Amino acid sequence: MSYEIVLTADRSIMSEYRDIPLGDFFSCAPKEIVPKPLFYYFAKKLPIINNGIASRAPYGLRKFEASITDWKINKVVTVDPAYIKNFIDKKTKIVAINTMDPLALGPVSMMFTFGGITTSYSKFLFSELIKQIGEIRKKNNYNFKLLIGGPGAWQFELRSNYLEREPYNNIDNIIIGEFDGIANNVLHDLLNNNLPKIYRSHEFPIISETPKIRNPSLNGLIEIMRGCGRNCDFCEPNLRRARYQSLDYIKKEIQVNIDSGYKYLWVQSDDFWLYKLDDHKTFKPNKDALIELFSEISKIKGLKEVHPTHGSIAPAAYDPDLVKKLSEIMHGGKNNWIGIQPGLETGSPRLMKQVMPFKTKPFSPDEWDDVVINGTINYNTNYWFPAYTLILGIPGETDEDLKDTIKLLHRMETEIPDKIGKEKSHFVTVPLSFIPAGTMRGDSFFDVDKEMTELRFFVLYMSWKHIVYELSHASPGVVKGILSKALLYTSALPTFLILVHFLKSWAHKKGYDLSKIDKIINS
Ligand code: SF4
Repeated sequence: MSYEIVLTADRSIMSEYRDIPLGDFFSCAPKEIVPKPLFYYFAKKLPIINNGIASRAPYGLRKFEASITDWKINKVVTVDPAYIKNFIDKKTKIVAINTMDPLALGPVSMMFTFGGITTSYSKFLFSELIKQIGEIRKKNNYNFKLLIGGPGAWQFELRSNYLEREPYNNIDNIIIGEFDGIANNVLHDLLNNNLPKIYRSHEFPIISETPKIRNPSLNGLIEIMRGCGRNCDFCEPNLRRARYQSLDYIKKEIQVNIDSGYKYLWVQSDDFWLYKLDDHKTFKPNKDALIELFSEISKIKGLKEVHPTHGSIAPAAYDPDLVKKLSEIMHGGKNNWIGIQPGLETGSPRLMKQVMPFKTKPFSPDEWDDVVINGTINYNTNYWFPAYTLILGIPGETDEDLKDTIKLLHRMETEIPDKIGKEKSHFVTVPLSFIPAGTMRGDSFFDVDKEMTELRFFVLYMSWKHIVYELSHASPGVVKGILSKALLYTSALPTFLILVHFLKSWAHKKGYDLSKIDKIINS
């Protein structure tokens, strides 16, 4: 069987990381520090069909696959990257790769690789795949085009000089943006050499009119909305207009995943609290729409767990009854913690006001630290586990801002367990480095190596110490299954302990005095 269009992604995103919470952050780990056998163990290969057809694939790739309607279904295939050579032959016209972090410029990679001093597995595996595809084309004298898209494609716009270097010079075109409304046109333009080398789409299709996925998506993920509207200056998704998916559409896509055997799913949005938002002034959640959405999803036969991907903190602080109600609908409980990724970003009300004033709504930026404490308490009380992101190096960040963050982290570590008990208090804060995206695209990257300061280091250190604490105190309801728990203790926890040890020696080398943290907290 020959295929005209072959779709794939590298192994760093073609894995479910054994369902370990935050497991996909491993793709950003530096290969110089995390040994290959350990990484490949975590980044477990997905099952394949026949000779290497992907049984599951990233949702974005599945949408693109479904949108290619000018070609017969049996001429388009999505494959596991390890078997790509089985699917390319002289009839192949396009090989398209979905990527998340091809040059390791994402905020997690930038932090884990110390600003690019080491190489993340995401960058390494992407470049290996490009190299392999380039060699297949050259060796066999094939003529197919190599197209790159997906959520990390923007990295080539920022570092277009990479496209002149090996192996990236094998890439023909880069597409950035939403293409599920215009995939056919783009592919025809590509084949007719009419597509700009780097093409940014400014199309924002009505998402209920885009084709539904035909095949299962990774982690059973489906989309309920696109765009956000909270207007954080550094945020790329915020550049997209907010659009909401219809319930009927959502249910049909979920069914595709359930039919393939999934019993859980991730509900994708940039902030699920904004689903069908009607109060754009205060950002108070649309209660009825959220209750209807999750009630209808939870009723689907065969589905045991539902987790929203991203959600902000302020609505959880504002409406504890709604958190409780949603938790009941999603069957949250001590044996089923609901994962959520909110952006905490900083403990500084000044920076909140300057860069992301709508993130605190319906509260004011001055109330941010209490919003974080109360939001976490309301999440935790109802069995939600927030994995917060923090950003280091936001342009204009001062020592006072960092001291505010250190104080807030301390409040979270002490006040939350005091108020609701240690067993119920669960959160992590993951420090990321500032990336110039969104309306801050012209600003500079935060250089982890050159711009690290003692105070920034303290934020980093406190966060990682707490992650290790959470991993070592994780209850079975937080970490699913005995196998996952065993994996945590045998592999993940030692890796993170090594990291904290590494951070301590880094502090020692730089002359940072960790005892100052207490002085800041008590000042
Ligand atoms: S709340 Fe999150 S998704 Fe929305 S604009 Fe801010 S950073 Fe972006």
